[in-house]
Amino acid sequence: MSKSNTWQRTHHCGALRPQDAGKTVVLNGWVASRRDHGGVIFANLRDRWGVTQVVFHPEQAELIAQAGNLKLESTVGLRGRVVKRPDNMVNPNMPTGGIEVAAEELVVYSEAKPLPFTIKDPPDALDETRLKYRYLDLRRPAMQKNMILRHKAAQAVRRYFDEKEFLEIETPFLMKSTPEGARDYLVPSRIYKGRFYALPQSPQTYKQLLMVSGFDRYFQIVRCFRDEDQRADRQPEFTQIDVEMSFVDEDAVFGVMEGLMARLFKEILGKEVPVPFLRLPYPEAMAKYGMDKPDLRFGMEIEDISGIASQTEFQVFKDAVASGGAVRGFNASGIGALSRKDADGLAEFVKTFGAKGLVTLQVQQDGIKTPISKFVSEGHLKRMAELYDAKPGDVIFMVAAEEKTCCAALGNLRNKIAADHKMIKPDDLSILWVVDFPLVEWDEQEKRFVAMHHPFTSPKPEDVPLMGSDPAKVRARAYDLVLNGAEIAGGSIRIHESGLQQKMFHLLGIDADTARRKFGYLMDAFQYGAPPHGGIAFGFDRLVAMLAGEDSIREVIAFPKTTSALSLMDGSPSEVDEVQLRELGIKLE
Ligand code: ASP
Repeated sequence: MSKSNTWQRTHHCGALRPQDAGKTVVLNGWVASRRDHGGVIFANLRDRWGVTQVVFHPEQAELIAQAGNLKLESTVGLRGRVVKRPDNMVNPNMPTGGIEVAAEELVVYSEAKPLPFTIKDPPDALDETRLKYRYLDLRRPAMQKNMILRHKAAQAVRRYFDEKEFLEIETPFLMKSTPEGARDYLVPSRIYKGRFYALPQSPQTYKQLLMVSGFDRYFQIVRCFRDEDQRADRQPEFTQIDVEMSFVDEDAVFGVMEGLMARLFKEILGKEVPVPFLRLPYPEAMAKYGMDKPDLRFGMEIEDISGIASQTEFQVFKDAVASGGAVRGFNASGIGALSRKDADGLAEFVKTFGAKGLVTLQVQQDGIKTPISKFVSEGHLKRMAELYDAKPGDVIFMVAAEEKTCCAALGNLRNKIAADHKMIKPDDLSILWVVDFPLVEWDEQEKRFVAMHHPFTSPKPEDVPLMGSDPAKVRARAYDLVLNGAEIAGGSIRIHESGLQQKMFHLLGIDADTARRKFGYLMDAFQYGAPPHGGIAFGFDRLVAMLAGEDSIREVIAFPKTTSALSLMDGSPSEVDEVQLRELGIKLE
């Protein structure tokens, strides 16, 4: 049989069942395994649909010789007859486990060298090796499953938005550089030397302009690029589901997005997600959970006990409150006795968030055990335990610091305790909106206010007067969607008047000239009839990772980069030819 002809398959490798017995079939696939059983050779053929067992019998001398030489992961075509397996040979773990195919003819399309690692789940290769040979890593059934799930999710998103009369409109990848927030990836222009395009951090201004154009209800599954210092689980390029709508308020945006989440969970996981979602104001999220992406799958709500703490003789508590900070804590109910080592470990943990220490109260049958018993009367300790509703077996954790530090330390500790003590059941779901974010926050390094969401986010109309007098108090019409403690979407109702937009730029310390140079096109557009509008963007990679039950977004991206933004497979970023640089008019230092 000529190698140049691909035998056209009659079935894929996941298709055959006992009722197909007797059929002559053609399969194509990869040799996933080969076992020699005293003359009889078994092989598994794998393709994206599944695995089928093939058997070569010793009577067929030529065929068995061919099979004996089969190298793992080679691609082959196989013609054979489907045979029902005897009952005691059925493999219940394989959908095709009721049959095997008795080989009659075999062609090797491409013989594989020994692989750098075995194709199996879980992989036994280092992450670096997996990324270098990503095309092999992607052969693993788990990765195939993830990529198929990602495809399904993307299709479900498109179907949903199409039903709701959203239009998918592409926006440019080569745009004007307007860094605000993250750093831009720049693309030098050959025609206009010394000038640069930027890759979009998001299509934010374009989608707003599309609203001005009248394309009410836009969405796009779109790549975004941010040249940030990489942190674990960030990628320099990532995918958003980007959405914008005209003549809407928060309720309208929430309604569409809640419907989308419900649809995705139903279609992909077969799970019902009750709507509408809880809306938690930002100040409450910070006070109770210490962060703006709270996980509500477990309790342990934070409470402020500054009042009673400042009445004790414990200087650390008194000082914190006197200097405008707070004493806060939570009851890790039922975690039982805490060893000295555990307590020290947790204290180290909160220090990474700026806390100076961690105070523990262990509530036991015979009293309260705490390192601060020398400074705090039994009455005060009892009162604290009462405030935290503590009973024997509970442990109260407290931090005394400025408010921000209390939040960060306790919020993260709360998540850690829940994880360490396996408080989260696999089927639990926490999904909520965080609303009423501050419009701006003070950036100590830059000594100016920066937008908490982005500069196009509208303040609440009733707070606009505060923009001049007390900017930190202004609430934004911004919202985040938080799923199981991860921010999976964020958006806002936008500013649609050039006057207010200018005021916002001014507040951010962007002078009129700079604003004009950077965003003149948007402010001009607002002068020709701009609809009130708002939208949101979902982190599609994170969403898919959560649907797939993966911790890292790398597991749901076909060709990801490392945490340090390298592509180990193709070696990018790489140096380029002198000629290329000359054409661009670029000289390297
Ligand atoms: N463009 C914003 C972002 O990428 C989302 C939005 O406001 O729609 O975070």
